Amino acid sequence: MTSHAMDDTRPLVITIDGPSGAGKTTVSRRLADRLGCRYVDTGALYRAVAWRVDAAGADYRDAQALKRLLAELKPAVSWKEGCMRIHIGGRDVTDGLRSPKISMLASRLSALPLVRAYLLDLQRALGRRGRVVFEGRDMGTVVFPRATLKIFLDASPDARARRRYRELAAAGNQSLEEVRRDMQQRDRNDSTRDLAPLKKAPDMLYIDSTGLSVDEVVDRILAGLPRRGDLARRGNGPA
Ligand code: C5P
Repeated sequence: MTSHAMDDTRPLVITIDGPSGAGKTTVSRRLADRLGCRYVDTGALYRAVAWRVDAAGADYRDAQALKRLLAELKPAVSWKEGCMRIHIGGRDVTDGLRSPKISMLASRLSALPLVRAYLLDLQRALGRRGRVVFEGRDMGTVVFPRATLKIFLDASPDARARRRYRELAAAGNQSLEEVRRDMQQRDRNDSTRDLAPLKKAPDMLYIDSTGLSVDEVVDRILAGLPRRGDLARRGNGPA
């Protein structure tokens, strides 16, 4: 238990952006645990939209169909044993969100203004009361530009591909080369799109997690947290 967990009752928002496989989810979960707060995996929200589009057999380029799906989507978020779960229409869909198909569709959908605007409101609502770690691609640049601390978490392309491969190994349907190729494609989509591309802003703390343990990354993040006095002076707020 760190001193941060005990004495910080002010709104606290930490953002962790970075490419896939950099370790964002594992680090966010551990960090939230050590701070005694929640984490929100925003990639899972994009994946939930993709899951719904796929389940409906809709064409993601059909703006009217997409609008209708979003209007009735109403994803709900809950936490079980420290893990974030997503529910659509009362059904827990979390376990179906990590497949290669849903990953690629989520990346395509995430370039659409309609989808980003929809999720922007939802994410800010989740951050309103503070004490949350948000991980994604545009958390520190667009969604919470005034966050308490903004991290850019990176790792070498090789380390990222291996992590993703291990994560997917349970599903067992992609080779390391296929994982690497999909990852490069998504990286390209995510960092070159016009709207809210993944990028490292100058006010982000850059951490390369290659060769670091989860706790070593979390220690660096905690060391970067402003002290309470500094927070008060900055008028720390979630958005
Ligand atoms: O982080 P994860 O790989 O689960 O995210 C799935 C996809 O959702 C990403 O490839 C990206 O296109 C999109 N995304 C995004 N903005 C976020 C989080 C995820 O565009 N804040």
